[in-house]
Amino acid sequence: MKVTILGCSGSFAGPDSPASSYLVRVDDGGRTWNLLFDLGSGALGPMQRHIAPRDVDAVFVTHLHPDHCADLCGLYVARHYNPGGAPTERVPVWGPTGTAKRLALMYHGLEHHALQQVFDFRLLEDQVAIEVGPVRVVPYAVNHPVEAFGFRIEAQGQVLAYTGDTDTCDNLTPLLRDADLVLSDSAFMDGRDDEFRGVHLTPSRAAQAALDAGGVKRLMLTHMPAWNDPAVCREQAAALWPDVEMVEFGATYEVGSGDLDSVGESGAV
Ligand SMILES: [Zn+2]
Ligand SMILES: [Zn+2]
Repeated sequence: MKVTILGCSGSFAGPDSPASSYLVRVDDGGRTWNLLFDLGSGALGPMQRHIAPRDVDAVFVTHLHPDHCADLCGLYVARHYNPGGAPTERVPVWGPTGTAKRLALMYHGLEHHALQQVFDFRLLEDQVAIEVGPVRVVPYAVNHPVEAFGFRIEAQGQVLAYTGDTDTCDNLTPLLRDADLVLSDSAFMDGRDDEFRGVHLTPSRAAQAALDAGGVKRLMLTHMPAWNDPAVCREQAAALWPDVEMVEFGATYEVGSGDLDSVGESGAV
């Protein structure tokens, strides 16, 4: 299982990265399964460096803030209006309550039926597992101002955990436990944002959540807004988790190989 960082800028697209999106690829049965976890503002662009819009097998949306779902509109257009012909299969899109309606509203309702031809909207439920080919995805309800989920993604004995947007909560423990790689929200900073609770993790809270879960092998911080200083964020988490890393836009990581393969833009797989 590999994960490619299509966007890791927090809350809005930044100068160095689009907003949240993670492409998970698993080779199985002579083919590659391509699953998208979030498709935030700007992320559809770099997605096309790795896969074509028609090659998306499923989309999982953590929540309906635009930095996590806005580019579903672009994916819809890219599939539906392709002069080469639209794919006959609909793409399953798992999201929270109201995902279909939210997308339709982006078009003022005008393209509602066409959206339904492209996407097969399905509702996420806390801890109700979903299987897509060889990949098992368990959503966990998390702590954000709107209905939001983190995803535990399991394939071929490896576990990738993606928190989505969340503050500390009980569900982070089963979500992160024994994960080979954790991609953790860390939009807030210790000392700067301490009065705002129930929105995002800080670096220290992200590290503490991984420690509390137990068995986490690698911890990476993501969802950094452009106004954060990544070096300070890393330091704040490193007080609790010395080997903490920051995700890198465009990088592809092998999950659970023990030999983290970080491939930059130029050598992207
Ligand atoms: Zn966000
Ligand atoms: Zn959010």
